Amino acid sequence: MSDPLLPSANPPAWLGVMGGGQLGRMFAHAAQTMGYKVAVLEPAQDCPAGQVAERLITAGYSDAAGLAELAGQCRAVTTEFENVPADSMAWLGERSFVAPSASCVSIAQDRIAEKRFFVECAPSSGVMPAPHKTIASHADIDAIGDELLPGILKTVRMGYDGKGQVRVRSREDVRAAFDQMGGVTCLLEKMLPLAYEVSVLTARGADGASVVYPIAENVHREGILFTTTVPGPNVSAACAQQAQDAARAIVAELGYVGVLCIEFFVLQDGSLVVNEMAPRPHNSGHYTIDACVTSQFAQQVRAMARLPLGDVRQHSPAVMLNILGDVWFDGDSDSVREPAWDQVLALPGANLHLYGKDDPRRGRKMGHVTFVAPALAQAQDSLRQACLILGIPE
Ligand code: ATP
Ligand code: MG
Repeated sequence: MSDPLLPSANPPAWLGVMGGGQLGRMFAHAAQTMGYKVAVLEPAQDCPAGQVAERLITAGYSDAAGLAELAGQCRAVTTEFENVPADSMAWLGERSFVAPSASCVSIAQDRIAEKRFFVECAPSSGVMPAPHKTIASHADIDAIGDELLPGILKTVRMGYDGKGQVRVRSREDVRAAFDQMGGVTCLLEKMLPLAYEVSVLTARGADGASVVYPIAENVHREGILFTTTVPGPNVSAACAQQAQDAARAIVAELGYVGVLCIEFFVLQDGSLVVNEMAPRPHNSGHYTIDACVTSQFAQQVRAMARLPLGDVRQHSPAVMLNILGDVWFDGDSDSVREPAWDQVLALPGANLHLYGKDDPRRGRKMGHVTFVAPALAQAQDSLRQACLILGIPE
């Protein structure tokens, strides 16, 4: 069913999405704008994507009956989260057009497979991942070379937003962290001297055509994306070119179909290191909704429907601020207050996106605001004012 020569799936066809989070919600908005109908498969009854989709199939991600309903209804299926069971994507792929494919998803969801792929791809991409080693036993820890310390121990699976990661300085630290994570297989990565972080959003169609968005500069706080700025204030033309060339080589080598986001580190000596990839639209690509001709979600729709990819041109400089549940709380207080959206929306160039989640929790992604302006400095000024209004420390 994943034959690239299949005719395009034109509106008002049904498109399916595995997962009901905010990425699925924004995907549904983009698909519906083009006249598609959207079915979401998600175990939770109330979820951001389920609130807006034409149909919510309430089922586990491996539930045979639920998957059969999704495949039966939809001309194409995608995923909005990277830990979707690859077996489910493979099963769907025999019955509907699935993008990205199960094999691409399974590489991205396993840090060992992902790093191996980056190493294999280095001759064409020109970038290497951080030095690393698989840690599956205490014997592996005994064999760690000094060059990997200090480092970061990361679980091989299910890591996101800095979860499943421990910073380690010594072999003793690695042992303690490995035991604390229950002895699951981990990857030890050398801690690199980062100057800044960038991501490259790319999309590839079933016909092999690919597009690369402008490079985005990302700031993280406590492992969670804090802001994305495009154009990145630190990004040189040479660095942007190198990251975009690497991204093109990576999607081509994967034979990927759909939107893929690749995260890179830029080291203090200016060199580029590839970190990881997300087989779906990405938080750092939300700025494309308000600042580019084709948003990352509209691009996902085009790729999975085998339509021509859209123009990735950015028409306005932009900064994106993630809105976490923290802004519903005043300092350390437990009482919930409504953030002053009226004041945020009074700022020049503000575009508010809230995901329909009704229980704010600290660290939970509730929405984002993108500021666009004719000049980046104006957008950055609005962002600073938004932080003041929302009580977000600068
Ligand atoms: P997410 O899925 O939210 O992007 P994650 O939990 O999968 O994150 P990573 O992206 O690997 O994890 O790491 C999170 C952050 O930790 C990075 O954005 C970077 O700031 C820091 N980090 C990770 N690996 C290294 C490293 N080898 N050297 C220095 N800093 C690192
Ligand atoms: Mg990351």
